[in-house]
Amino acid sequence: MRVGETQKGPFQTGRVSNGIRRLICACALAVLRVGANDVPAAVPLPGEIVWGTNVFAQGALTIHRLTVGKLAANCYIVADAQKNAIVIDPGASPECLRRYLVDERLRVLAYVLTHSHLDHISALDELAAAIPAAVAMHPEENDWAFCEKNAWLPWYPRTGEVAITRPLRHQQSFTDGGLRYTVIHTPGHSPGSVCLWFPQEKLVFTGDTLFAGTVGRTDLHRSSTTSLMRSLGVFLMMPPETAVYAGHGEPTTVAAEMKANPFMQDIPNPPKEKAERKAGA
Ligand SMILES: [Zn+2]
Ligand SMILES: [Zn+2]
Repeated sequence: MRVGETQKGPFQTGRVSNGIRRLICACALAVLRVGANDVPAAVPLPGEIVWGTNVFAQGALTIHRLTVGKLAANCYIVADAQKNAIVIDPGASPECLRRYLVDERLRVLAYVLTHSHLDHISALDELAAAIPAAVAMHPEENDWAFCEKNAWLPWYPRTGEVAITRPLRHQQSFTDGGLRYTVIHTPGHSPGSVCLWFPQEKLVFTGDTLFAGTVGRTDLHRSSTTSLMRSLGVFLMMPPETAVYAGHGEPTTVAAEMKANPFMQDIPNPPKEKAERKAGA
């Protein structure tokens, strides 16, 4: 969630069946789909929320963005020309994501979590069961990812436990098909938040660390404003033209954020009090 977003309703525990989940959700929200005609459309299924589907070209890569779930988190499917793909943050609507992957003939090599908040992880169990692949997450998220508190019914039942086969480390690099990316540990919004940097394509996925014009909330359990402000320094090391694809909202660039994002103005000596005030708002 971004600064300024609130999560309505208390955390609750327990799981509901798929059928019940779909029945509950089907009555709750109309499905809104956006995008050009040539964009392959995610199939909006009863009970699953898909706010929009967009496709971006970034060098040799194709980025499919499906904005899913009550909290409108961006799930990114990043694919090379051979359709080898990683799925970043499967946050909701697992059947819709599964069908999209099948329809687009994308071969999933890994699921990668920028962090474990419910709006980024909730479809992981069902999706990984249907389409098995490596699962990557920073170990600092282990305690939270599958715990009972990481749920908000009826929108986000607790995610069933999935084996993390790739515990992520800072500056670890991966090659999945034609995808080459480096993990940047950016604690703050959560202790195990990471960004995924594709230096060749000048592209970074920032999860809830950095958004267009703002940063992730730091008033949540396990958040740290001081850590987040320190983490923002990593973006100064990237070429300014680097495209930023965030966990919520529209893409931006490092240059645009350095110019206009108030949280980026004071790196490397962020004014802690000011940041605390804004992030807690
Ligand atoms: Zn989020
Ligand atoms: Zn989050």
